[in-house]
Amino acid sequence: MPVKGLGLYDDQNVFARILRGEIPSRRVFEDEWAIAFHDIAPQAPVHVLVIPRGRYVSLADFTAGASDAEIAGFWRAVGAVARQLELEAPGYRVLVNMGEHSGQEVPHLHAHVFGGRPLGVMLAK
Ligand code: 5GP
Repeated sequence: MPVKGLGLYDDQNVFARILRGEIPSRRVFEDEWAIAFHDIAPQAPVHVLVIPRGRYVSLADFTAGASDAEIAGFWRAVGAVARQLELEAPGYRVLVNMGEHSGQEVPHLHAHVFGGRPLGVMLAK
């Protein structure tokens, strides 16, 4: 489903290519529904991206078009990644950018998982 400003799913977007193994990434997790890998430009000591295996441009696209199993699988993967990286006790932040106002750059849904230090205020003033 097209999302205003993001267009239709582009099979050449960088995360599609990472999913297919065409460009390298430092993977930390994978299952039937999602993969996770370190962000190339980390903004915290831990900065991992979790992406669904399905072809979804954004959270809007995903929540409108994905099956219940895909949605459950994706969010369970986010939780599993944080657990695997031992972020539960100190705490962590999950962030999804969606569309123009958020600054979403890559048109394949991704959840940022940040941790490893106190993360400060939620939004820049
Ligand atoms: P967005 O702004 O779309 O929410 O976040 C995109 C994220 O993808 C950014 O944090 C950026 O550093 C990351 N990123 C962009 N290209 C690559 C890449 O080729 N490999 C990895 N691992 N991360 C990337």
